[in-house]
Amino acid sequence: MSLIVQKFGGSSVRDTEHLFNVARIITETYDAGNDVVVVVSAQGDTTDDLIAKAYEITNRPEGREMDALLATGEQISASLLAMAIKKLGYRAISLTGWQAGFLTDSNHNKARIRRVNKERIENELDKKNIVIVTGFQGLNRYDDITTLGRGGSDTSAVALAAVLKANRCQIFTDVTGIYTADPRLVKTAVKLDEITYDEMLELASLGAQVLHNRSVEMAKKYNVKLEVLSSLERVPGTVVKEVCKMEKMLIKGVAKDDNVARISLVGLPDKPGTAFRVFSLMASHKINVDIILQSVGREGTKDITFTVAQKDRAEAVEALEEIAPSLGITKIAADDDITKVSIVGAGMESNPGVAARMFEALGEANINIHMISTSEIKISVLIDKELGEKAVIAIHNAFEV
Ligand code: ADP
Ligand code: ASP
Ligand code: MG
Repeated sequence: MSLIVQKFGGSSVRDTEHLFNVARIITETYDAGNDVVVVVSAQGDTTDDLIAKAYEITNRPEGREMDALLATGEQISASLLAMAIKKLGYRAISLTGWQAGFLTDSNHNKARIRRVNKERIENELDKKNIVIVTGFQGLNRYDDITTLGRGGSDTSAVALAAVLKANRCQIFTDVTGIYTADPRLVKTAVKLDEITYDEMLELASLGAQVLHNRSVEMAKKYNVKLEVLSSLERVPGTVVKEVCKMEKMLIKGVAKDDNVARISLVGLPDKPGTAFRVFSLMASHKINVDIILQSVGREGTKDITFTVAQKDRAEAVEALEEIAPSLGITKIAADDDITKVSIVGAGMESNPGVAARMFEALGEANINIHMISTSEIKISVLIDKELGEKAVIAIHNAFEV
């Protein structure tokens, strides 16, 4: 008998009609002779609404209380879905993250899964139950509720598929698979039949929210067979795997990430150890630094510009202001009127001219590039936020992906 993990995102379970639609997908999978473990997200915009409620009370909600609040969203959908499945005449049980054995570290709002104790789920499967697990949540070692970060239910699903050695992990969402660009933004975007873990990891990390980036990382590590497909249209989706068959596609996708802030430091001493002091300070605050640009030193000084996630901007600037006098920084500037647009594809490794074609497309669209960063399989540019959509479309057209 095979075991399938199925995950349904917020829009797939947004109301009673959608819950019954999902219940039918699940029971059909069960009827085909599979054990089924289901992971659900909060209904519709529930998580956003809960966050808004917290900010009505305070603009600095404590991580622990925030997690206790946000975890309730997934509990609503899990229990309702279990009721819907039972109503269709099947055995089902809903479990919270902690009942399902998810143990995490203590980084509230962005916890990492440490372990999943699978006994309870296996017992329920032995009793022939369809098991519904709340996504996105777990317990830390103090028995406090944690959540895995926005979009984290995908990671809950992949973790379960890995631990239970599932035959497949299906991520059901509101589009029919992974596209060459966000299909809501680029009407000519094309659905991919398959994509490699590495390419998908880049796309997810660069703003394509269709999969949580840590879910892809984990799927690669534990060799989980991952598939993204629609809960509304019964058509084949996209398979994420180690190697894709040879094909002519140079670029697999274009992604946009608006969640970027830029910090510029002016007047740094042009001597060894300066960059170390700046970036070790960021690391000590657990702030991830993305693109870094350093100017050529002139008259003993240099400037450094770098990007961080928007939520880290205030803390980064605060920390830098403290060391500014001792480091000789004359000015700190920060803004988030920028966006990052990226192209991803394993094909670019062996094909020169990809960057040139991307920059040409931006030039022709009259879009100025502020910063550039590259790796073997991606190129990212930082541009003005208001030009983001135009840039994605122009680049997508240029590669005819
Ligand atoms: P869910 O609630 O099911 O987790 P998400 O909103 O997190 O769904 O992710 C699905 C959305 O991701 C789609 O509606 C689409 O707008 C967006 N998206 C961004 N980039 C891509 C892409 N390359 N392919 C498919 N969808 C994408
Ligand atoms: N409900 C959470 C969110 O909206 C987790 C998820 O949907 O994956 O981010
Ligand atoms: Mg999601």
